[in-house]
Amino acid sequence: MSFVCTVDVEDWAQSTLDTNLPITERAGLQVEHLLDLLAEENVRATCFILGKFAEKFPSCVKRIAAEGHEVASHGYGHVELFRLLPSEFREDVQRSKGQLEALTGLAVKGYRAPCLSLIKESLWALEVLAEEGFVYDSSINPGVMARFGISDWPPQPVRVKLPSGLSLVELPLATLQLPGYRFPVAGGGYHRLLPWMVIRFAVAKRLAGGEAFVAYCHPYEFDCEEFSHLTFPLPLKTRLHQGLGRKGFEAKFKKMLQEFKPDLALHVAEQAQWPLYLPAI
Ligand SMILES: [Zn+2]
Repeated sequence: MSFVCTVDVEDWAQSTLDTNLPITERAGLQVEHLLDLLAEENVRATCFILGKFAEKFPSCVKRIAAEGHEVASHGYGHVELFRLLPSEFREDVQRSKGQLEALTGLAVKGYRAPCLSLIKESLWALEVLAEEGFVYDSSINPGVMARFGISDWPPQPVRVKLPSGLSLVELPLATLQLPGYRFPVAGGGYHRLLPWMVIRFAVAKRLAGGEAFVAYCHPYEFDCEEFSHLTFPLPLKTRLHQGLGRKGFEAKFKKMLQEFKPDLALHVAEQAQWPLYLPAI
C-alpha cells in the first residue's frame, strides 16, 4: 500500500483567520522553501493549491508542476464547504481547476476541501466534483477527535458511488485505530506536537497492515518566524494552536520522507479497484 505526502498550498492568515485577507508575500517564500526541501529529499508530493494563491504566485504553481509534483485543487477562496451553496461550490471549483490547468497545461484530477470541511452535511460536494471531472477527493477526516470529519467514514480509500450513478475515489486522511476510537494522525498539529517515534509507529503500522497513509502539511508550518512578523495582534489561544511545534517540525518531516517514500495521490487513486462505498447523501 502507499504513503502519500500532500501539501495544502495557501496563506496562513487568509486560510485560517479571515478568507478576505490578502495572500501575503511570505506565503510564496514558504512554498519555495518547502519545494527546496522536497527537491533535497528527491521526493514528489501532491500539492492542493488554493486559487487565490495561484493568482498571486503563478510562478510557484509552474515550479510545482515542473518539479514533478502533482497539481491538484484546494478550491479558490478557502471558504468551508458547508457555508456554500452547491452552485457556489461548483463556481469555486471550476475557477480553481481552470486556473491551474491554464497555468500548467495539466489536467487537475484531485481536490481537497478547505479545513477538511467535507462533512456529512456537505457530502453533496462529491457529486459536484465527479461532474466536474475529478478522479478523486481527499477531504474526509475519519478521526473521532477531528475538528471536522465523518467519524464513521471508512478509514481506507473507497470508490464512492453517488446517487447520480457517477463515482470517484475518496482518499481519507490517515487515522490510527486505537481501542474504542480512531485517532487522527495525518498531519497538522498532530505532526507538529507528536514525537517522531509516535508518527513513525502510526505510518509503519498502517503500511504494514496493507493500508494507505495520507499525510498532509502546510508550507507555513515550517516557518517558525511567521508570528514575529505579524502586523496585527494574535490571541494567545490562536498563537498556541497554530504555532506550537513549528520548531522541530521540519526535522520530523524530513525523517518521514526519508523512511517512507511518498507516492502521488492520483497514482494511489488510480492504482487499485477500491471497494465500492454508497454513503447516504
Ligand atoms: Zn487549506
